Amino acid sequence: MRLQDKVAIITGAGRGIGAATAKKFASEGAKVVVVDLKEEDSHQTVAELKENGSEAIAKCVNVTKRPQVEQLMDEIIKEFGRVDVVINNAGITADSQLLKMSEEQWDDVINVNLKGVFNVTQAAAKVMKEQKSGVILNASSIVGSYGNFGQTNYAAAKWGVNGMTKTWAKELGKYGIRVNAVAPGFILTPMTEKMPEHVLDMMKDKAPLQDLGTPEDIANGYAFLASDEARFITGTILSIDGGVVI
Ligand code: NAP
Repeated sequence: MRLQDKVAIITGAGRGIGAATAKKFASEGAKVVVVDLKEEDSHQTVAELKENGSEAIAKCVNVTKRPQVEQLMDEIIKEFGRVDVVINNAGITADSQLLKMSEEQWDDVINVNLKGVFNVTQAAAKVMKEQKSGVILNASSIVGSYGNFGQTNYAAAKWGVNGMTKTWAKELGKYGIRVNAVAPGFILTPMTEKMPEHVLDMMKDKAPLQDLGTPEDIANGYAFLASDEARFITGTILSIDGGVVI
């Protein structure tokens, strides 16, 4: 197993890509900390992991709240003594074209998708620096490199995630910490279920592989990047998108 006994924090792991990643990491031997806004969702994921004999705990944390994130890190250190992997997966959308976007839509998406990633990484990197090892993986998006109609806020946040990924790779490499991002294309999750059917069909047609992605496709990318197989990979943005932007 590629992640045997690694302690992995996965934010937004109550459903969608985060929940699939939690299952993948547990199947690779990791001890998983399932972080989510909703207590019942994180407990649901943890119950599934434990049913399969894995070690996992649920934590109800809002990644935008720094005191909650700092408390989370303290609790994990008390419970497990270390943090090997962080997956900054929690993310939201609040779409509107520029001329209609409210300040609240802008602030909400920037707070979760950008500041949340900063909060969790800063707290975890302090621990990883002491350990002289660690892996940070961020959820980017094809929208973070190409933009998307109606997603000013989301594009800004994901572009920022790409920038932070490269910056942290430069700053933290000397402490044995690798930092990478995964940029999914269109993946079938509760987030994309909100999109009109014809848009999803269009995306499917546009991709050379003629399909939408599954949460497991993304989970596989995270598992590879977290493992020692990726020991010489840092500062990269791994596209997992069926080739939709070629
Ligand atoms: P999802 O199904 O909507 O799940 C997101 C999870 O994040 C939910 O469990 C949500 O909790 C949690 N969350 C939201 N705000 C949070 C906060 N402040 N603190 C802690 N947890 C919070 O999304 P997904 O489709 O799996 O996407 C996961 C990540 O991949 C996101 O960063 C997204 O931007 C990125 N991504 C997705 C796609 C795609 O096609 N699906 C494409 C590119 C990138 P609640 O259930 O309580 O709201």
